[in-house]
This record gives sequence, structure tokens and C-alpha cells, in this order.
Amino acid sequence: MNAAAALPAATDAALDVARVRDDFPILAREVYGKPLVYLDSAASAQKPRQVIDAESAVYEEEYANVHRGVHYLSQAATDRFEATRRRVRAFLNARSEDEIVFVRGGTEGVNLVARSWGRTALKEGDEILISTLEHHANIVPWHLLAEEKGLVVKGVPIHEDGQIDMDAYRDLLTERTKLVAITQMSNALGIVTPIEEIVRLAHDAGARTMVDGCQAVSHGAVDVRALDCDFYVFSGHKVYGPTGIGALYGKAELLESMPPWQGGGEMIARVSLERSTFKKPPHRFEAGTPAIAQAIALKAALDYVAGLGLDRIAEHEAMLLDYATERLSSLDGVTIYGTHPNKASILSFNLEGAHPHDVGTIVDRDGVAVRVGHHCAQPAMQRYGIPATVRASFALYNTLDEVDALVASLAKVREFFA
Ligand code: PLP
Repeated sequence: MNAAAALPAATDAALDVARVRDDFPILAREVYGKPLVYLDSAASAQKPRQVIDAESAVYEEEYANVHRGVHYLSQAATDRFEATRRRVRAFLNARSEDEIVFVRGGTEGVNLVARSWGRTALKEGDEILISTLEHHANIVPWHLLAEEKGLVVKGVPIHEDGQIDMDAYRDLLTERTKLVAITQMSNALGIVTPIEEIVRLAHDAGARTMVDGCQAVSHGAVDVRALDCDFYVFSGHKVYGPTGIGALYGKAELLESMPPWQGGGEMIARVSLERSTFKKPPHRFEAGTPAIAQAIALKAALDYVAGLGLDRIAEHEAMLLDYATERLSSLDGVTIYGTHPNKASILSFNLEGAHPHDVGTIVDRDGVAVRVGHHCAQPAMQRYGIPATVRASFALYNTLDEVDALVASLAKVREFFA
């Protein structure tokens, strides 16, 4: 973590998963009389007590609307809300907290960039490059914008192993490319992309860059300054924080040049009946009452992962992924999608002769929660000619025993469909 000086210190010892699990009350519950094995953290991570307590403490002790009250509670809530902005700045190693815009999540962050920057900076015939790995949240907003403005959206293909085809990327990058919007980690396959090189090449070609960090942020340190991306988005709920809160990072000079995308309270400098003028970023982009308690509790989540150490979390998850890959490969009829070595925490697969939805439903009866479907990444599914996969995703609280429980349950599925 680059902003380490600003963050709680982690020690060198391996992650103490038993102790970590005690922080997550939901992990103690059973489903269908079986211990819960939660392998769906890529969709949304469970919350530690520290985050749950932080959110309820807001309502019990210091709740009021922010940025608009002279009274004690409003000032206290505003201070804590802005403390999270500073915390997100350190988490991403942005230059200034003014570069951090609160949004509902990654989806809203991408839409903000499309609606504000895209609408004003792009013109007919300009090209946007995305990739086959993108989540729909980083595809559909560009399609909507392309339709409105006559832009062209092009997809960079992936190799059979799931990694971005960098030769194709170089070929697709031209002087017409004005934006490269690509994920740092695929939610469907777990592939970690060579995002530094992608950003560098885009800038060499004169294009702006937007990185979708929704999956990446919980598996390793992010440094937007080193990465030099123009925009970066993530969702709080995937990094053990509440739903309804996330952040958009944008380089100061870009945010400064962008018009508001939504109008309303608290984003204005002055309003008359005839016209409005607007605040500076980030407040220009935060119309209306924000997710106050959720934003405050996001700080607890970021403190939590920093306290454990993102490197140690990544190491633990890599161990789980290696073990799960090995165990699953030993089952007959398993196809794993996304086999490139640069991957993290996600195992996407199918069992021959079994529909993913049936697999998901059967293992659920053993208490094992996996995601089945297209994972909001239909282009990736189309690349492999499949409608869906089963996705097991691992987080800091998962154990080798839980991988065994998944494999034992899958062995039953195999027997069922044999
Ligand atoms: N991008 C990626 C890679 C994702 O995995 C997700 C959610 O699964 C999103 C974007 C959208 O995030 P949210 O639904 O929190 O806005």
C-alpha cells in the first residue's frame, strides 16, 4: 500500500482467519441446517462487526444531514463524512481529497464519467475502447453515450486463457481513440489485466483512461498516481463496506473541467430563478443528500482491510485459489474459464452435462453459496460460447475447509448428472 504512512499498520504474520471470521457475525449462521460457506464475495462481500458498528453508531450517536447545518450534530456528521473522503484518498493514493467524488458505487461512477466528461469531451466519430472482460456497468453507459453522440465503441478481445490480447489492443488504439475504459480485474473470470501497460499505451496514443477497480480494490493495493489513470471507480460493498456508497477518482484538472451531471442541493454556488452556478469538485458532482452513514462506515471498512494488510489478504486468497483450482481440476468434466496465471480470488467453471443454475441450486442445499449466471459480463460468456458459469469467489474470511465443502458438494452434483 503506497499510502502506508497514513494507514493502520499490519504485521508480517499470516492472516489469522479464525480470528478474522469472528469479526463477521453472518459467517456463524447456518443455511438449511448446514454451516454457511459463502463463496460469493465478488458479488458483495460480508461485513465485519467494525463496519456494522460504525454504521449503527452514526444513527445512535451522530446522525444529521451533512454540509448544511450549523448545529453540533450536522457538523459532527460532516466531519466524519469528510474523514472518509480523506481515507479514500489515502486508500487510492490520490493527490488530493478533492479528487474523490462519492457515488453510489462503481456503476454510478462510470455513468458520471460518461454523462459529464463523455458528453462534453467526445464528439461524433470518436472511439471508446472497452474489453471483452468488462462488467455491463463498464459497457452499457458507453453504449448509451455512443447512441446519443454518434461515438464508436470497440471491444479489445481476450485470448483463450482470458487475458487481454495486447497485440489486438495496440492495433485498435488509433488517433480516433479518445477513451480506454478497462477493468483492472474481471469479475467473471478473475483475470487481472496488465492495467499499467494499458494506461500507458492509451496515454501514448492521446486517449484518456478510466479503470474499473470494483473487483481489484479488495485484493491488492491501488495507487492511482503510479497508475496515472484519469479516472478510477470502485464500490464500497465489495471491499467489506456498506452498499450505496463508492468512489470515483478523477484527476483534479479533469474534474475541474467537467460540468455537473445531476442538479440539486449542495452542488451549487448560487441559484437564482434564471440560472445556477456550481461548486468546485468534488461537491459539484454530489447533488442531494448523500449516503451519510454508509460513507462514514466505508472508512471503517477501509481501515479494516488496511489493518489486516492487503498484501496478507492477497496472499491468503491466492492460497485458496490455488488449492481450489487444483481440487476442482481433479474432478471429471470440469472446465475452468480464465486460466491465465495473473488472476485473483475467482474460479469460474462449468461441469459437463450440468446447467450452472442446477449446480448452484444443488450446492446451495449444502450451504455453499456460489454465483451462477453470466455475471453481468455477457461478452465474456459469448467469447467462450456459453450462456453462464458457476463462480466461486474467495475472500479474506474463507478457509481451505470451505473449498473442500465446495468440492465435496460438486462431487455430489457430478454423481447426480452422471
Ligand atoms: N465492475 C465490476 C468489475 C464489477 O464486478 C461490478 C459488480 O459486480 C461492477 C462494476 C458494478 O458494481 P456495482 O454494482 O457495485 O455498482
